[in-house]
Amino acid sequence: MTVARSMMVVGATLVFAGLAMTLYGVTGLFAVGGALLVAGALASFSLSPESESGGAECPECSTRNWADRAQCRECGADLR
Ligand SMILES: [Zn+2]
Repeated sequence: MTVARSMMVVGATLVFAGLAMTLYGVTGLFAVGGALLVAGALASFSLSPESESGGAECPECSTRNWADRAQCRECGADLR
């Protein structure tokens, strides 16, 4: 699940980077790289339920979810 999502993110990133490079050349590539670097850093700090100890594990698919979520982010199962 996590590997598939990572591949999807990498694929989307490459498509996006290729598009930016086609449109804006190397400058566009640097802009995309910088934006992704910042976004990735922010996401890893604030949006990682796996590294959070207070998260709730889904009874259906075992995905770690934020503690305040009512439904699983993967399969939508009720967490409460
Ligand atoms: Zn689930």
